[in-house]
Amino acid sequence: MDVEDFREHGKEMVEYICEYLSTLEERRVTPSVEPGYLSKLLPQQAPQEPEDWATIMADVDSKIMPGVTHWQHRRFHAYFPSGNSFPSILGDMLADAIGCIGFSWAASPACTELETIVLDWLGKAIGLPEEFLAFPKGSKGGGVIQTSASECVLVCMLAARAQAIKKLKQLHPSVEEGMLLSKLMAYCSKEAHSCVEKAAMICFVKLRILEPDEKCCLRGDTLRQAMEEDEAMGLTPFFVSTTLGTTSCCSFDNLPEVGPVCKRFPAVWLHVDGAYAGNAFICPELKPMLGGIEYADSFNTNSNKWLLVNFDCSTMWVRDRFRLTSALVVDPLYLQHGYSDAAIDYRHWGVPLSRRFRSLKLWFVLRSYGISGLQSYIRHHIRLAKRFEALVNQDRRFQVCNEVKLGLVCFRLKGSDELNQKLLSNINESGRLHMVPASVNEKYVIRFCAVAQNATEDDVDHAWEVITEFASELLETQHLEKVASVYYSGVAWLVTRGGRTCLRRLALFILRTCPVASAIYGFLDPSVLVGAEGYFGQLGSHATPSTLPLTIPQNRRKTNSWHEKEPQRRIRSQILTDKKQPFL
Ligand code: PLP
Repeated sequence: MDVEDFREHGKEMVEYICEYLSTLEERRVTPSVEPGYLSKLLPQQAPQEPEDWATIMADVDSKIMPGVTHWQHRRFHAYFPSGNSFPSILGDMLADAIGCIGFSWAASPACTELETIVLDWLGKAIGLPEEFLAFPKGSKGGGVIQTSASECVLVCMLAARAQAIKKLKQLHPSVEEGMLLSKLMAYCSKEAHSCVEKAAMICFVKLRILEPDEKCCLRGDTLRQAMEEDEAMGLTPFFVSTTLGTTSCCSFDNLPEVGPVCKRFPAVWLHVDGAYAGNAFICPELKPMLGGIEYADSFNTNSNKWLLVNFDCSTMWVRDRFRLTSALVVDPLYLQHGYSDAAIDYRHWGVPLSRRFRSLKLWFVLRSYGISGLQSYIRHHIRLAKRFEALVNQDRRFQVCNEVKLGLVCFRLKGSDELNQKLLSNINESGRLHMVPASVNEKYVIRFCAVAQNATEDDVDHAWEVITEFASELLETQHLEKVASVYYSGVAWLVTRGGRTCLRRLALFILRTCPVASAIYGFLDPSVLVGAEGYFGQLGSHATPSTLPLTIPQNRRKTNSWHEKEPQRRIRSQILTDKKQPFL
């Protein structure tokens, strides 16, 4: 492809993207495919000869798109938002075209300097303490863009580990580092993201997962008690990861309590993970939720979640960049340059050496929307979540299960976990909405997140209509199953107790009349009952209610325009609903 081809196909691609994003609603939100679908459609080897662009794009439409989950769809309410906006897409396009690998200042000065500047802009807008910024005179702090929140937590834990080992080594110079490592203890709440556990696995340190309070919030006393116990056992607390806006239910650890506890343990590094919620602090009225940040050593938030920036763009700030980099510096000759002392080399701030020019898209977004535009976006999502919360609260069959502070509502049908599991899997299988579950206070809940950039009140109302439609149907089915079960129990009682021929005859008579009754109810498959008659015949006096076959066909689901557009096949791949482990 030469530059003229690129000019032409680039324009076509922009057209394709515009068409895709503006007609998303005509598609199912989740694909209707099963694992391995694509390998049946694509050849097993790369083509030996070049193919033309039109053929490749035709395959995008016919083979790739059918397997895509549409995260930008108005009916997508799963996980947290996946940031997306036109300025950000354009920023990524330009970064890809420049194609620099900005591991050091010298490797591409603008790449490094823009990152430092926009991270200061964003840090100020969020309301981080000055020590986290790079530019105030004498500051040791600064921000960096990492690939993911998981990576932010990992590098902070690595830095904390290096710092703790160094301190222990000073106290016990003759003890091997491996032995010192075995003494280190990290802490987080049960509600923390699983990436903390993964970081501890990678760092080869112990992690104590603490019980939060009834609002899913880690409290200072819980942490203090755990740290004191561990210290008394000869262990060294070295890292605490707190969360502002947990994944399951968007709860907030009590940072004003946890912070002072950490200060009592000099080796401890306090990290604050605000992967989703941290973006909201650009709104002045939400800044109080950041209270306690003055105790933290590091903070991260994903602009690529809730600030209209495309993945990847996970922003992280540290109070002392030298403590961070001391754990990660390696300095071969081929990477050195003459300005090492005067400039930031981001290769020392993370795991990878190579880095994309990610600050461009963040810069484009900050300038195109302005802080005020981004504040409106955040507030709009919160309003949508509040509307959804009000709808749930108006329906006595449901309950809201979290304190709705931002864009996430956790709710459930009053009833068993199984009932809610069934509800969610029915909804997800329909392809009309997509949500994921979580466990909140040991209960299975459904998470509804405001996700699409331009979602409206109508979208929320539509989602609620779909949810209540499925719920009504499920509850009705459940009720009918209960009625049927009582009926069968009665029949079974007659069969088991009815030793006399006349009673058994009566039972069989009831069974024969059953299809008539079921026709009146209009839901039971007569063959089940005919089958049951044979079953009774076989089992005779051993039949009990629990051994009776009982099936209620689920064939009465209503359809609407969303549904009718796609074949009614089962979706399997994308849904976490049926897995025991909730949303991770
Ligand atoms: N921390 C929190 C609070 C999250 O909600 C998530 C993901 O949703 C993560 C960390 C992990 O994010 P990433 O995928 O960027 O590693």
